Amino acid sequence: MANGSTTTGTATGTATGTATATATSDVAAPDTPRRRPALSPSRAGDFKQCPLLYRFRAVDKLPETPTKAQVRGTLVHSVLERLFALPRTGRTPGAARELLRPTWSQLAEESPEWTELFTDPASEEELTEWFTSAEKLLDSYFAMEDPRTLDPEACELHVETELNSGVLLRGYIDRLDVAPTGEIRVVDYKTGAAPREIGEAKAMFQMKFYAVVLWRLRGVVPRQLKLLYLSDGQALAYTPDEKELARFERTLEAIWEAILRAGRTGDFRPSPSKLCGWCSHQQHCPSFGGTPPEYPGWPEPDPGEESALDRAD
Ligand code: SF4
Repeated sequence: MANGSTTTGTATGTATGTATATATSDVAAPDTPRRRPALSPSRAGDFKQCPLLYRFRAVDKLPETPTKAQVRGTLVHSVLERLFALPRTGRTPGAARELLRPTWSQLAEESPEWTELFTDPASEEELTEWFTSAEKLLDSYFAMEDPRTLDPEACELHVETELNSGVLLRGYIDRLDVAPTGEIRVVDYKTGAAPREIGEAKAMFQMKFYAVVLWRLRGVVPRQLKLLYLSDGQALAYTPDEKELARFERTLEAIWEAILRAGRTGDFRPSPSKLCGWCSHQQHCPSFGGTPPEYPGWPEPDPGEESALDRAD
């Protein structure tokens, strides 16, 4: 069994038919030791796509201004999390819509800079239009699933495990369903507007990452990895097997090794692709005539954290 394995999140499995919830809501004490460097699916995906992008995000921590669509994704994820905290019978489309504005108020309070995406002050018309677009994503969700028939074990589940090689994996799972038989389903909501062919490989990488973490934490290979694309109502399901996850684990270890090598030397090279169109750092990128800031050295404490925006792509 791996060391230092944790799961935290919103436990929702309260009704009959669900496995015992293992999610807890522990809060780090103020004197908690600094967290070790870890690999998250978002940052691993960044490094695979472009080492320099990884550096800008995880090492330099250059600011990125989210788009309204990204913030809307975070809002919809939060609403779905709150929806599953309601009793089964209350999980209706109307209830989800009613959660939108109070959930936004809370998010806006926690991240006031997000409100700057709207005109100052935001007109009711502008906000209504934005909420309507979020409602469409929620309607799309209800067309794919009836949440009254589900009792997830946890939503927004923080998972962390250490591989035998010492690599620490860390991430957040949108939803974890566990059948009475013990079979695990990992569910991820996709709210972004990026073309499917670009997002799909990235999304499957993320899902396999979670599958490895759960396999190492619980000793069970998840039965299904399920992606729900709320922008077009399509679902994608995948069944991993143990051999494949073992190979994927080695891939993650190789990525972490490569990150540490680059971290020691500061040699994070750009790797231009069609994904550069979504990169916020072209002005610092040599492939676009820019100059990176001076390398600040390997960060202490670590990269490996994912923001709410990372988790809501
Ligand atoms: S613009 Fe492209 S090549 Fe440059 S850092 Fe961003 S993703 Fe990498």
